[in-house]
Amino acid sequence: MAKSQEEIIEEMQLVTAQMIQDDLDENPDLAEEFFDCDCCGKNKCIAGSIQYDKYRLCNDCVLLAEIGFALKKFSNIQDLINAMEDNRLEEYCEFIKNQENKLNN
Ligand SMILES: [Zn+2]
Repeated sequence: MAKSQEEIIEEMQLVTAQMIQDDLDENPDLAEEFFDCDCCGKNKCIAGSIQYDKYRLCNDCVLLAEIGFALKKFSNIQDLINAMEDNRLEEYCEFIKNQENKLNN
């Protein structure tokens, strides 16, 4: 029997949560390492992130990507990046605003 959408999402949540755990088990220092996610643009913990082609995605975006692939919403990571473009731009705008505020103070 085919899995329901809810089952797929639940399963992916477990899988991606496990990725963080595995990374931290392997190298606990990763909990203190951050990078800018190529998908959502947020500064995220490197634990649980995954490199897809030329993009490194944070764990939250890995979850979105894997659900998207499993539900056949996207066929490749570029589609997800394109879909996230608006959110990402918003995030960059926030970042720029924050920088401006710092400069003005
Ligand atoms: Zn992300």
